[in-house]
Amino acid sequence: MNKIVVIGAGQAGAACIAKLRTEGFDGAITLIGEEAIPPYQRPPLSKAYLLGEMSLDRLLLRPEGYYHDAGIALMLGTPVKGIDRAAQHVVLGGRMIPYDALVLATGSVPRRLPAAIGGDLGGVHVVRGLADVDAMAPGMQPGRRALIVGGGYIGLEAAAVARKRGMDVTLIEMAPRILQRVAAPETSEYFRALHRAHGVDIREGVGLTRLVGAGHVTGAVLSDGAELSCDMVIAGIGIAPATALAEAAGLDIENGIKTDAQGRTSDPAIWAAGDCASFPYQGGRIRLESVQNAIDQAETVAENILGAEVPYQPQPWFWSDQYDVKLQIAGLNTGYDRVVVRDGGAARSHWYYADDRLLAVDAMNDPRGYMIGKRMIAAGISPDPAVVADPSQDLKALLQG
Ligand code: FAD
Repeated sequence: MNKIVVIGAGQAGAACIAKLRTEGFDGAITLIGEEAIPPYQRPPLSKAYLLGEMSLDRLLLRPEGYYHDAGIALMLGTPVKGIDRAAQHVVLGGRMIPYDALVLATGSVPRRLPAAIGGDLGGVHVVRGLADVDAMAPGMQPGRRALIVGGGYIGLEAAAVARKRGMDVTLIEMAPRILQRVAAPETSEYFRALHRAHGVDIREGVGLTRLVGAGHVTGAVLSDGAELSCDMVIAGIGIAPATALAEAAGLDIENGIKTDAQGRTSDPAIWAAGDCASFPYQGGRIRLESVQNAIDQAETVAENILGAEVPYQPQPWFWSDQYDVKLQIAGLNTGYDRVVVRDGGAARSHWYYADDRLLAVDAMNDPRGYMIGKRMIAAGISPDPAVVADPSQDLKALLQG
């Protein structure tokens, strides 16, 4: 094994190349990214960076000098056009880069509002990359009107930033409630109340029929017939795994690039990690969209390329910042049948169970509840729901057994 190429200079790509070096690989590593800047963290794009409270250099995952010092060939502004699996090289415009092992860390692509309903008008944005946010931020001026389409975490975070910047904000969610895809009604209720208290006009069960404007968006017609005027639209309507390269190369795809437990694709010389990859999980297959998953999965792939043969075991966690609320989520709530609310006033947490087994915790300004819940999930401990529901009871005692 002499040459390792990683496509996608994002969270997973950066974690993979760093792990290869710390594990002692001293062959050639090439990290290729289509964006023009070195690997950076995306979460602040809909939080502190969009708010203007974080500088560009603090977004970068590593100082620029790191790549040179670690002997990584970092190729930026370079979209990979294809993979020749038989010859084992990747194709750039007119140039080939050979590999012994190839890692696909291509991330995901945001769903966009269709041009047929005005999605291509000026002032219509998505929040995926730095360029998106740099294009949107100047338009976020006090008194202007923002329409946020989609009540998932990205849409809600964008709404919070827009309000903090003094905009009038309307958020529409097609499903009956915000966060329906990812959280229990109790959590939706909490964030609905939070946003309404901050003056966001939240409309649930309402979709977008079309945007209006000549060149630049000036208004919207909603599925309930309502018409509203707006100066900016931010679409937070989900992402799709970036599988185009893998598909064109004939790799197996199943809700993302299909990998085995070690991160290997249907071609043994090609691996995948991060938002773009789906992997075996509890008898099924799952794809996660989070920083921790991108890092841990990419590090496991790096170890396995070097022969470790370890399965990837996700320890899911996620966070979101909205106004003065920090949400921390431990575990995955898929299949829950009961939610227990632990209401400690300012600190509050929602505990998801299936058949009395603790699956996940949503903790709002409750770092202690989050930490304890996370440790319980990792240790397979399921606390008595009656104890969880009573905030005067110390959960830590249960953790100690
Ligand atoms: P990315 O970091 O997206 O990197 C993929 C890279 O591959 C991109 O730079 C892309 O340009 C490049 N690429 C794709 N195709 C090619 C090609 N053909 N040639 C060359 N390069 C290519 N997660 C959390 O856990 N907590 C949060 O609070 C949170 N907030 C978020 C807020 C926003 C606004 C966004 C967009 C994401 C957020 N996430 C959050 C999700 C998290 O950032 C992603 O899960 C993570 O970045 C995935 O890492 P990745 O390496 O798989 O993909």
